[in-house]
Amino acid sequence: MPLRLYNTLTQQVQEFAPSSDNTVRMYTCGPTVYDYAHIGNFRTFTFIDILRRTLKANGFALDHVMNITDVDDKIIRNAVAQNKTLEEYTAVYTQAFQEDCRTLRLETPERLIPATRHIDDMAAAIQRLAEGRHTYRSDGSIYFRISTFPEYGKLSHTDFSGNIAGARVDVDEYEKADARDFALWKAPKEGERYWEEPIGPGRPGWHIECSVMAIKYLGETIDIHAGGVDLIFPHHENEIAQSESLTGKPFSRFWLHAEFLMVEGQKMSKSLGNYFTLRDVLGRGYEPESIRYLLASTPYRKQLNFTFEGLKSAATAIERLRNFKLRLETDKFPEGADEEVAGRTAAASRTFTESLNDDLNTAEALAAIFEYVRDVNSAMDAGRFRAGNAAGALEFLKSFDSIFQVIEPTQKGGYIADSEVESLIAERSAAKKARNFGRADQIREQLLEQGIVLEDTKSGVRWKRK
Ligand code: AMP
Ligand code: ZN
Repeated sequence: MPLRLYNTLTQQVQEFAPSSDNTVRMYTCGPTVYDYAHIGNFRTFTFIDILRRTLKANGFALDHVMNITDVDDKIIRNAVAQNKTLEEYTAVYTQAFQEDCRTLRLETPERLIPATRHIDDMAAAIQRLAEGRHTYRSDGSIYFRISTFPEYGKLSHTDFSGNIAGARVDVDEYEKADARDFALWKAPKEGERYWEEPIGPGRPGWHIECSVMAIKYLGETIDIHAGGVDLIFPHHENEIAQSESLTGKPFSRFWLHAEFLMVEGQKMSKSLGNYFTLRDVLGRGYEPESIRYLLASTPYRKQLNFTFEGLKSAATAIERLRNFKLRLETDKFPEGADEEVAGRTAAASRTFTESLNDDLNTAEALAAIFEYVRDVNSAMDAGRFRAGNAAGALEFLKSFDSIFQVIEPTQKGGYIADSEVESLIAERSAAKKARNFGRADQIREQLLEQGIVLEDTKSGVRWKRK
């Protein structure tokens, strides 16, 4: 069954394939680095990781851009209050975000780019919007005039006609269902960081960064744009207005949105104060795998209620899978292969893949593996499971873990992705060639701490996980 995804734009589940060649051009809105991200944020980022891995399992290559919002109202306010430059202030939380992503085994997007690297491009895009008469100036700021984009509202399926009065909004936070002209470029305020650009001094509004970076790296029409449901309006609606006014082409073919992580009936959020950072939860002794499992276990279009009970159940579920794997690796089974068991493995593996291809139905994918584990454990107890069945079962576990990433425990030095191992090995080989043996040894030791064993052979370096 081909991959099908729910598209917020068409309000339908549609078959997905990239528009040209085999590469999926995907843009996802990244974190605002004004503080540590909370596990609600990580529900969305975990959904994006499951999406990435499922796209790859379908044989597609990825070109995925994620922005880091490193300039906005809150960041500027906090940096000023702490007497720090923007860069000093955001560096801490950018690094923390990357560490947290590694802890949760979230793959690094092909390009992870801070917005402040593209201020010139944003100013140029605003200039072009101005030439197209989509903007106006007021008090040194530049606003997007929503009435110049008649399709405004098509993503959130809201009819704003008659409701677009030309009122302006300066802040990055909006009232719901209130369509207002939004700031593309904000005039400098006393003591705040600004950039000198041909359009005048100032700093970009939040929405323009995503339009500009998506188009710059991925082209005028991208395959997938994703984020949390709170971004549908106004952020993604505004992105569409800017991008399509710039190019005259549809901005993204698919729009995907993850539902909220909730706490006692309310969205987990900084402003409500009902949040836990990843570090908070790890500090209470929970494993990163349990958190990842919990965040991934409910299909992304359903709200997920966070509880510590839920985390404990996640830990128990993971334990079952680990024990099953251990049994496969260490028990002695009778010779031969049982056909019924082999058939069961093939069927479970098929159901697993099809569930994920059904708009990432992670709950069904998990049900498929747990029913399988139960059946195979019974087959083992009854002596029906044979030695020749083990490889197939382990193969299925491996394909499960290539998406869910919970069976292999985290090593002391933290989890490391295959691609990072490969690039460190390449760096080590280069260091050896340059006779920098200190660096080469350091890399070997670092990898060992992360559970990676290197073996130098005649045909190159081989590696495996401990
Ligand atoms: P921010 O750092 O505020 O820009 O948010 C980063 C991402 O987290 C966005 O895609 C938001 O939609 C998402 N997000 C924020 N709160 C939650 C939540 N409680 N549950 C799921 N996703 C969320
Ligand atoms: Zn965005």
